[in-house]
Parts: sequence; structure tokens; C-alpha cells
Amino acid sequence: MITLALSKGRIFDETLPLLAAAGIAVDASIGASRKLILPTGDPDLRLIIVRASDVPTYVQYGAADLGVAGKDVLLEHSGEGLYQPVDLGIARCRMSVAVPAGFRYAEAVRPGARLRIATKYVQVAREHFAAKGVHVDLIKLYGSMELAPLVGLADAIVDLVSTGGTLRANNLVEVEEIMQISSRLIVNQASLKTKSARLEPLVAAIGRAAGSAR
Ligand code: ATP
Ligand code: MG
Repeated sequence: MITLALSKGRIFDETLPLLAAAGIAVDASIGASRKLILPTGDPDLRLIIVRASDVPTYVQYGAADLGVAGKDVLLEHSGEGLYQPVDLGIARCRMSVAVPAGFRYAEAVRPGARLRIATKYVQVAREHFAAKGVHVDLIKLYGSMELAPLVGLADAIVDLVSTGGTLRANNLVEVEEIMQISSRLIVNQASLKTKSARLEPLVAAIGRAAGSAR
């Protein structure tokens, strides 16, 4: 049995067409069910539904043979025991710095300056500001980052942006793009050896589906 870990929402929705193109039918209505283990049209392949940030953990420990995770999630995870063969090009967005309208960011990011940054992505934020020589106090949040600068918790946030609608609705401005984000197929390194006859063609087929989808 091969187990593929997905999170609900955009990753589930955008992975299903790739699976279909790779010859694996999944009943889309199944996404609305509360079951956490879902069958597919291939009796030897099942899906498990986990929190987006938990996908690398399930794959790392081999509880799932493969999974789909955002680059944002992978950068905050050690990546140990994981092989990342394919950028699927789905769930695209960017990781950016945003500040309240009127905050003079260009002046605030001078080398030697100090900034309070609220984010879910503390590793990426730490490296980004260290490279500029800016000292940061990182405040780890798990959601609703946009609120932090509005109530004085932080000067700026590091968050994912796609349309910018949430930033605009909260009078925040995107002042710097840190990187482009998309989701990757990740594979357990031990599974790739012990189940190579099943996994290699599957990874190749999903890779081809992703390539032709772009
Ligand atoms: P939760 O919403 O349950 O707190 P999450 O935010 O990690 O968890 P999703 O919102 O489903 O989960 O996001 C899953 C992945 O999709 C993220 O890790 C990221 O790679 C990508 N993503 C997040 N926000 C956006 C967005 N606005 N547009 C496109 N892709 C996004
Ligand atoms: Mg989310």
C-alpha cells in the first residue's frame, strides 16, 4: 500500500487534477467527508488528510510514503529523511514583508537597526533579515498575522500573499517580496528504496502531469 499525505483546501483541490492526469481517480466529493483516510481508484494507493504544516512530519517518519507540501512549510521543517523530486507548481503565492500604510520601511531596514517581526515563518524571516544586517525580535504566530502590526505587537509581518486582498483590507502594504512559493511533491527516502517499483512510476507520472499542467 502507498500512502499520500495531503492537506484539505487548495492543496487537495489542486492535487486531484494532477492525480487524475496520472491515472488515479479520486472522487472529489470525498474531500467534503470527515474521513481522514480516503481510498482512490487505485486499490494500492490511499490518501491521508493532515494539517498542511504536518505533511513533512508524516512523510519524514514514513507514516506516509509521499505528500504535497508548500515550500513555505518545507523551509520551516528540517527536511530530514525527505526527498523533494518535483515542484508541482500548484498553490502558488509569494512570501513577503508587509507593514502598516505609512510605516517608513526603507528607513527601518538599515543595517544595525532593530525591528519587531510577527510571523509563522520564523526561520525564513530570521535568515532574510540577518542577510541585511538588521536585528529582529521574532514573534511566532500561528495565524491572522495581519493583525499584529495594527495592535502594536510588531512593526512588520512576514506572510504569504497571493492577491493582496487581505493586506489591503487591513491597511497593510507589501514592501518586499522574499521569495516565490509553490507546492512540492515530497517522498520518504526509505520508501523510495523499499517501494521503488511502485513509487518511481507514480512520482514520474505526477511529475509529467505537473509539467504539462504548466
Ligand atoms: P491553516 O489554514 O489550516 O492554518 P495553512 O495556512 O498552512 O493552514 P492552507 O491555507 O491550506 O494551510 O495553505 C496550504 C499551503 O498553500 C501553504 O503552505 C502555502 O504553500 C499555500 N498557500 C497559502 N496561502 C496561499 C494563498 N493565499 N494563495 C496560494 N497559496 C497559498
Ligand atoms: Mg491558511
